[in-house]
Amino acid sequence: MKAAVFHGSGVGLRIEEVPRPVAGPREVLVKVAACGVCHTDLHYLEHGVPTFKKPPVILGHEASGVVEEIGAEASTVKVGQRVLIPAVLTCGYCPACRAGRENICANMTMLGNHIDGAYAEYVAVPAKDVLPLPASVPLAEASIIADALSTPFHAVKNRARVQPGDTVVVFGCGGVGINAVQLAALAGGYVIAVDINERKLAWAKEFGAAVTINAAKVDRVSKEVKKLTGGGADVALEVIGNPKTIEEAFECVRVGGRLCVVGYTHEAVSLVAGKIMFKELEIVGSLGCRPLDYVPLIRLVEQSKIDLSRQVTHRFPLQELGKAFEVMKEGVSLRSIVIP
Ligand code: NAD
Repeated sequence: MKAAVFHGSGVGLRIEEVPRPVAGPREVLVKVAACGVCHTDLHYLEHGVPTFKKPPVILGHEASGVVEEIGAEASTVKVGQRVLIPAVLTCGYCPACRAGRENICANMTMLGNHIDGAYAEYVAVPAKDVLPLPASVPLAEASIIADALSTPFHAVKNRARVQPGDTVVVFGCGGVGINAVQLAALAGGYVIAVDINERKLAWAKEFGAAVTINAAKVDRVSKEVKKLTGGGADVALEVIGNPKTIEEAFECVRVGGRLCVVGYTHEAVSLVAGKIMFKELEIVGSLGCRPLDYVPLIRLVEQSKIDLSRQVTHRFPLQELGKAFEVMKEGVSLRSIVIP
């Protein structure tokens, strides 16, 4: 089969012919319908972030497809079933899994990171992890539920805990951030979207932001947010992964408010500890999504409460995966999907 194989930072990705995976006894072989292109892949390709599996490794962690084969003991899934593959697979028995927090599983395996991923024609995954997709949900576009939607769903609902009437500032309106905007608005928040790209800000308005701020055109975003909210936002979500914007998001939060860090950076950030204490601020991280949250999330998509199709702005064949990263860097895409 054809797959996009990562050979290490600096070497990059090559589209190669590799052996088709074989489903183990408790696994299913999924024929990939589409795989979403996430900024996390760009971290491996260009920012020196290592994958857990030593290259060569097939990247891609945001996939949907159709079950082609089932392992001898995989009785819960049928051949021909349309499925979503969560980006992260969990063990089910570590303390975090036992506590219902599978998204921080001690033995997690992420597609296209710990194990071969889905920038490929086929991928083999445990049968217990795949989620059935209703017939009314478009299969290829549904791939982005696996990360671009599920990550902000968990962040907004469980970590930032947005409540109706909350003022919410979202830093970064890319593939993941746009859904933080959409889901925070759906939760009843008054959403202030921040980006440096006017096109992203226009999309943020379409996806539910009440106000937008172009960070490149103001002196301090926090000053603007304080003006708009009468002293600071109840919740700030950082969905970029930049120490400077994490620090600025922290400055936007009102007394008793909450900062939720979704963006990834390996760099340190500098926050004034006294402010955390005096303002009783909460600082939380948010990683991926718990399996139990996928069910209501897919239901929201099925009920058209979440706009899925409009955020897939670009489609590429696997051979043109490189172009997906180009449009991401140019800032002209919201989410690209590759169709093997
Ligand atoms: P993206 O490239 O699609 O979006 C990033 C956005 O940030 C863009 O719209 C860009 O214009 C904007 N931006 C960049 N610099 C800015 C600045 N200084 N001020 C304001 N806006 C700025 O990326 P994405 O796929 O949405 O991913 C966003 C981040 O989330 C990445 O760091 C990624 O690794 C991380 N991520 C985390 C999880 C998780 O589980 N926590 C899951 C997926 C992705």
